[in-house]
Amino acid sequence: MNERPPSSHAGGCLCGAVRYAASAPPVLEGNCHCRDCQKASGGPYAPTLFFDDSTVEITGNVQYFESIGGSGQPIRRGFCPNCGSQLFGRPSIRQGMLGIRAGTLDDPSAYQPKAEIFVAHAAAWDSMLDGTAKFDTYPPSA
Ligand SMILES: [Zn+2]
Ligand SMILES: [Zn+2]
Repeated sequence: MNERPPSSHAGGCLCGAVRYAASAPPVLEGNCHCRDCQKASGGPYAPTLFFDDSTVEITGNVQYFESIGGSGQPIRRGFCPNCGSQLFGRPSIRQGMLGIRAGTLDDPSAYQPKAEIFVAHAAAWDSMLDGTAKFDTYPPSA
C-alpha cells in the first residue's frame, strides 16, 4: 500500500532519447487548434496536457524553438533533435506550466481532453470531440 504507483503520465519521443515522467496529475488537458500548432504538429491540432513544471522530470537532450503564439507572447516548443518528435510547450503566458503532447504518452488513453481552444482557426477537415468545452480562441479565464 505504501508502494507508489508508477506515473500514469510518462512517455517519450519516437527514438527514446527523451523521456519524461510526471509525479502529479495534469492541471489542464485540451486540444489546441491554432495555426501554429497545426504547423508544428503537421496535424489538425495539438493534444496537450499541462503540468506544473516542477512535477515533471525530463531526461535527455531537448531542443527548443521559440515563436510568438496566438497570445502575442512567446512560446517555446521542445522537440527531440535526433528524431524530431514534438514533446513540450512552454508558453510564457503561463509561467511554470509545461505542456506535453498527448501522443507521446506511453499510455495515450491517460489523456482526457476537456477543452478545445482556437476552434475559430480549425481546418475544414478538422473534427471536434463531443463533450468538450469549445473556445474560439483562449478560454475567457486565460
Ligand atoms: Zn527522439
Ligand atoms: Zn496552439
